[in-house]
Amino acid sequence: MKIAQIQTADGQSLYATPVDNKWYGCEGDLHSGWTQTETRIEPHRFLPPVQPTVIIGIGLNYRAHAEEVGKPLPDFPVVFFKNLSAVNGHGQPIVLPRHLKSDAVDYEVELAVIIGKTAKNVPEEKALEYVAGYAVANDVSARDWQNIYGGGQWSRAKSFDTFCPLGPVMVTADEIPDPNILPLRMTLNGEVVQDSNTSDQIFTVQQLITFLSGSTTLLPGTVILTGTPPGVGAGKNPPVYLKAGDRLQAEIEGIGSLQNDVIEEAP
Ligand code: ZN
Repeated sequence: MKIAQIQTADGQSLYATPVDNKWYGCEGDLHSGWTQTETRIEPHRFLPPVQPTVIIGIGLNYRAHAEEVGKPLPDFPVVFFKNLSAVNGHGQPIVLPRHLKSDAVDYEVELAVIIGKTAKNVPEEKALEYVAGYAVANDVSARDWQNIYGGGQWSRAKSFDTFCPLGPVMVTADEIPDPNILPLRMTLNGEVVQDSNTSDQIFTVQQLITFLSGSTTLLPGTVILTGTPPGVGAGKNPPVYLKAGDRLQAEIEGIGSLQNDVIEEAP
Protein backbone atom coordinates (compact mmCIF):
# COMPACT_ATOMS: atom_id res chain seq x y z
CA MET A 1 0.00 0.00 0.00
CA LYS A 2 1.15 3.52 -0.78
CA ILE A 3 0.60 6.03 2.05
CA ALA A 4 0.85 9.81 1.67
CA GLN A 5 0.17 12.53 4.19
CA ILE A 6 -1.84 15.23 2.51
CA GLN A 7 -2.89 18.68 3.57
CA THR A 8 -6.30 19.66 2.22
CA ALA A 9 -7.24 23.19 1.18
CA ASP A 10 -8.86 23.81 4.57
CA GLY A 11 -5.64 22.90 6.38
CA GLN A 12 -6.42 19.37 7.58
CA SER A 13 -3.63 16.78 7.51
CA LEU A 14 -4.87 13.35 6.43
CA TYR A 15 -3.39 10.02 5.40
CA ALA A 16 -4.33 9.08 1.84
CA THR A 17 -3.61 6.38 -0.73
CA PRO A 18 -3.72 6.63 -4.54
CA VAL A 19 -6.21 4.45 -6.46
CA ASP A 20 -6.49 4.93 -10.27
CA ASN A 21 -4.99 8.43 -10.06
CA LYS A 22 -7.45 9.49 -7.36
CA TRP A 23 -6.72 9.86 -3.65
CA TYR A 24 -8.72 8.14 -0.92
CA GLY A 25 -8.51 8.59 2.82
CA CYS A 26 -6.69 6.11 5.06
CA GLU A 27 -7.02 5.32 8.73
CA GLY A 28 -4.20 3.96 10.81
CA ASP A 29 -0.64 4.66 11.84
CA LEU A 30 2.86 3.19 11.80
CA HIS A 31 1.98 0.83 14.63
CA SER A 32 -1.29 -0.64 13.32
CA GLY A 33 -0.86 -0.20 9.59
CA TRP A 34 -3.45 1.54 7.41
CA THR A 35 -6.81 0.74 5.85
CA GLN A 36 -8.36 2.67 2.97
CA THR A 37 -11.68 4.47 3.44
CA GLU A 38 -14.18 5.54 0.76
CA THR A 39 -13.55 9.26 1.36
CA ARG A 40 -12.14 11.08 -1.67
CA ILE A 41 -9.33 13.52 -0.83
CA GLU A 42 -8.19 16.46 -2.94
CA PRO A 43 -4.49 17.08 -2.29
CA HIS A 44 -3.61 20.71 -1.72
CA ARG A 45 -0.09 20.05 -0.51
CA PHE A 46 2.02 16.95 0.19
CA LEU A 47 3.53 16.60 3.65
CA PRO A 48 6.23 13.98 4.31
CA PRO A 49 4.48 10.56 4.45
CA VAL A 50 5.63 10.10 8.06
CA GLN A 51 6.82 12.50 10.73
CA PRO A 52 10.26 11.12 11.57
CA THR A 53 11.32 10.68 15.20
CA VAL A 54 14.96 10.85 14.07
CA ILE A 55 16.66 11.07 10.69
CA ILE A 56 19.82 8.96 10.46
CA GLY A 57 21.98 9.43 7.36
CA ILE A 58 24.52 6.95 6.05
CA GLY A 59 27.50 8.39 4.18
CA LEU A 60 29.58 6.79 1.43
CA ASN A 61 27.38 3.69 1.05
CA TYR A 62 27.90 3.24 -2.70
CA ARG A 63 31.37 2.24 -3.88
CA ALA A 64 31.35 4.48 -6.94
CA HIS A 65 30.18 7.51 -4.93
CA ALA A 66 33.01 7.07 -2.39
CA GLU A 67 35.40 7.02 -5.37
CA GLU A 68 33.91 10.14 -6.99
CA VAL A 69 34.37 12.19 -3.80
CA GLY A 70 37.84 10.71 -3.19
CA LYS A 71 37.09 8.95 0.11
CA PRO A 72 38.23 5.42 1.09
CA LEU A 73 35.57 2.69 1.40
CA PRO A 74 34.35 2.64 5.03
CA ASP A 75 34.87 -0.42 7.29
CA PHE A 76 31.67 0.47 9.20
CA PRO A 77 28.65 2.53 8.09
CA VAL A 78 29.38 6.27 8.33
CA VAL A 79 26.57 7.78 10.45
CA PHE A 80 25.29 11.35 10.69
CA PHE A 81 22.02 12.97 11.77
CA LYS A 82 19.73 15.45 10.03
CA ASN A 83 17.66 17.90 12.04
CA LEU A 84 13.95 16.98 12.13
CA SER A 85 12.91 20.45 10.95
CA ALA A 86 14.78 19.83 7.67
CA VAL A 87 12.01 17.46 6.58
CA ASN A 88 10.16 18.60 3.47
CA GLY A 89 7.32 17.37 1.27
CA HIS A 90 6.89 16.52 -2.42
CA GLY A 91 6.31 19.66 -4.48
CA GLN A 92 7.69 21.98 -1.79
CA PRO A 93 10.74 24.16 -2.50
CA ILE A 94 14.32 23.44 -1.48
CA VAL A 95 15.55 26.76 -0.07
CA LEU A 96 19.17 27.82 -0.65
CA PRO A 97 20.47 29.18 2.70
CA ARG A 98 21.26 32.89 2.50
CA HIS A 99 21.47 33.97 6.16
CA LEU A 100 23.96 31.28 7.14
CA LYS A 101 25.13 31.12 3.55
CA SER A 102 26.05 28.20 1.34
CA ASP A 103 27.26 28.43 -2.24
CA ALA A 104 27.59 24.67 -2.67
CA VAL A 105 24.16 23.06 -2.21
CA ASP A 106 23.94 19.59 -3.77
CA TYR A 107 21.38 16.80 -4.29
CA GLU A 108 21.51 13.09 -3.27
CA VAL A 109 18.81 10.58 -4.26
CA GLU A 110 18.40 7.96 -1.53
CA LEU A 111 16.25 5.04 -0.43
CA ALA A 112 14.66 5.96 2.92
CA VAL A 113 13.84 3.11 5.30
CA ILE A 114 11.10 3.82 7.86
CA ILE A 115 11.28 1.78 11.07
CA GLY A 116 7.83 0.76 12.35
CA LYS A 117 8.53 -0.80 15.76
CA THR A 118 11.10 -0.46 18.50
CA ALA A 119 14.31 -2.19 17.42
CA LYS A 120 17.39 -3.08 19.45
CA ASN A 121 20.18 -5.60 18.77
CA VAL A 122 18.28 -6.90 15.75
CA PRO A 123 19.96 -9.75 13.82
CA GLU A 124 20.23 -9.37 10.05
CA GLU A 125 17.80 -12.21 9.33
CA LYS A 126 15.07 -10.44 11.31
CA ALA A 127 15.92 -6.85 10.30
CA LEU A 128 13.24 -6.38 7.64
CA GLU A 129 10.52 -7.33 10.16
CA TYR A 130 11.12 -3.91 11.78
CA VAL A 131 10.57 -1.93 8.58
CA ALA A 132 7.18 -0.22 8.15
CA GLY A 133 7.95 0.97 4.64
CA TYR A 134 10.18 2.73 2.16
CA ALA A 135 10.18 6.19 0.59
CA VAL A 136 12.21 8.29 -1.81
CA ALA A 137 14.46 10.89 -0.15
CA ASN A 138 16.73 13.70 -1.30
CA ASP A 139 19.59 14.19 1.18
CA VAL A 140 20.27 17.82 0.26
CA SER A 141 23.77 18.81 1.41
CA ALA A 142 25.75 22.06 1.61
CA ARG A 143 29.19 20.83 0.54
CA ASP A 144 31.02 23.90 1.88
CA TRP A 145 29.60 23.33 5.38
CA GLN A 146 30.23 19.58 5.00
CA ASN A 147 33.85 19.68 3.87
CA ILE A 148 35.32 23.08 4.79
CA TYR A 149 33.48 24.81 7.66
CA GLY A 150 32.00 21.79 9.49
CA GLY A 151 34.99 20.70 11.55
CA GLY A 152 34.72 17.23 10.03
CA GLN A 153 31.05 16.85 11.10
CA TRP A 154 28.34 16.56 8.45
CA SER A 155 25.16 17.28 10.40
CA ARG A 156 25.30 21.09 10.03
CA ALA A 157 25.64 20.78 6.27
CA LYS A 158 22.67 18.43 5.97
CA SER A 159 20.27 20.12 8.42
CA PHE A 160 19.28 23.42 6.83
CA ASP A 161 15.51 23.92 6.57
CA THR A 162 13.95 22.07 3.59
CA PHE A 163 17.07 19.84 3.15
CA CYS A 164 15.21 16.53 3.61
CA PRO A 165 12.49 16.09 0.96
CA LEU A 166 10.69 12.79 1.56
CA GLY A 167 7.82 11.20 -0.34
CA PRO A 168 5.37 11.70 -1.93
CA VAL A 169 4.41 8.29 -0.53
CA MET A 170 5.71 5.59 1.75
CA VAL A 171 5.28 2.10 0.26
CA THR A 172 4.55 -0.45 2.96
CA ALA A 173 7.22 -3.11 3.43
CA ASP A 174 5.00 -6.00 2.25
CA GLU A 175 5.20 -4.57 -1.30
CA ILE A 176 9.04 -4.47 -1.31
CA PRO A 177 10.26 -7.98 -0.49
CA ASP A 178 13.90 -7.08 -1.34
CA PRO A 179 14.98 -3.44 -0.84
CA ASN A 180 18.49 -4.23 -2.11
CA ILE A 181 17.60 -4.47 -5.83
CA LEU A 182 15.81 -1.16 -6.50
CA PRO A 183 16.74 1.06 -9.48
CA LEU A 184 17.03 4.72 -8.41
CA ARG A 185 17.82 7.93 -10.25
CA MET A 186 17.92 11.71 -9.97
CA THR A 187 17.14 14.14 -12.75
CA LEU A 188 18.19 17.79 -12.66
CA ASN A 189 16.20 20.00 -15.06
CA GLY A 190 15.23 16.88 -17.03
CA GLU A 191 18.78 15.49 -17.35
CA VAL A 192 19.56 12.19 -15.59
CA VAL A 193 22.48 12.90 -13.22
CA GLN A 194 22.33 9.85 -10.91
CA ASP A 195 21.32 6.41 -12.25
CA SER A 196 22.07 3.38 -10.14
CA ASN A 197 20.62 0.50 -8.12
CA THR A 198 20.51 -0.18 -4.39
CA SER A 199 22.37 -3.42 -5.22
CA ASP A 200 25.51 -1.23 -5.44
CA GLN A 201 25.28 -0.36 -1.74
CA ILE A 202 28.24 -1.42 0.42
CA PHE A 203 26.01 -2.13 3.44
CA THR A 204 22.57 -3.68 2.76
CA VAL A 205 19.38 -2.44 4.44
CA GLN A 206 19.55 -5.46 6.77
CA GLN A 207 23.17 -4.77 7.70
CA LEU A 208 22.37 -1.10 8.39
CA ILE A 209 19.47 -1.98 10.72
CA THR A 210 21.64 -4.52 12.59
CA PHE A 211 24.47 -1.99 12.93
CA LEU A 212 22.29 1.00 13.90
CA SER A 213 20.24 -1.00 16.43
CA GLY A 214 23.36 -2.42 18.09
CA SER A 215 23.29 -1.37 21.76
CA THR A 216 20.99 1.43 20.55
CA THR A 217 17.20 1.59 20.56
CA LEU A 218 15.66 2.64 17.25
CA LEU A 219 12.25 4.18 17.92
CA PRO A 220 9.23 3.78 15.61
CA GLY A 221 9.43 6.59 13.06
CA THR A 222 13.21 6.35 12.69
CA VAL A 223 14.04 7.25 9.10
CA ILE A 224 17.29 5.83 7.73
CA LEU A 225 18.69 7.48 4.58
CA THR A 226 20.77 4.68 3.09
CA GLY A 227 23.32 6.69 1.11
CA THR A 228 23.59 8.03 -2.42
CA PRO A 229 25.02 6.66 -5.68
CA PRO A 230 27.52 8.56 -7.89
CA GLY A 231 26.56 11.58 -9.97
CA VAL A 232 26.27 14.29 -7.31
CA GLY A 233 27.14 17.84 -8.33
CA ALA A 234 30.27 17.88 -6.14
CA GLY A 235 31.69 14.98 -8.17
CA LYS A 236 31.58 16.86 -11.48
CA ASN A 237 34.52 18.81 -12.90
CA PRO A 238 33.92 21.64 -12.33
CA PRO A 239 31.32 21.02 -9.57
CA VAL A 240 27.70 21.86 -10.44
CA TYR A 241 25.73 23.22 -7.48
CA LEU A 242 22.03 24.02 -7.22
CA LYS A 243 20.69 27.44 -8.20
CA ALA A 244 17.30 29.07 -7.98
CA GLY A 245 14.97 27.78 -10.70
CA ASP A 246 16.43 24.25 -10.79
CA ARG A 247 14.00 21.32 -10.69
CA LEU A 248 14.98 18.02 -9.04
CA GLN A 249 13.16 14.73 -9.53
CA ALA A 250 14.27 11.81 -7.35
CA GLU A 251 12.82 8.43 -8.35
CA ILE A 252 12.94 4.85 -7.12
CA GLU A 253 11.20 2.17 -9.18
CA GLY A 254 8.19 0.75 -7.38
CA ILE A 255 8.20 3.52 -4.77
CA GLY A 256 7.65 6.89 -6.41
CA SER A 257 8.89 10.16 -7.82
CA LEU A 258 9.75 13.11 -5.56
CA GLN A 259 9.88 16.55 -7.17
CA ASN A 260 11.21 19.77 -5.65
CA ASP A 261 12.13 23.13 -7.16
CA VAL A 262 14.99 25.25 -5.85
CA ILE A 263 14.52 28.81 -4.58
CA GLU A 264 16.63 31.36 -2.69
CA GLU A 265 15.94 32.08 0.98
CA ALA A 266 14.09 35.38 1.36
CA PRO A 267 16.40 38.21 2.54
ZN1 ZN B 1 23.33 11.17 1.73
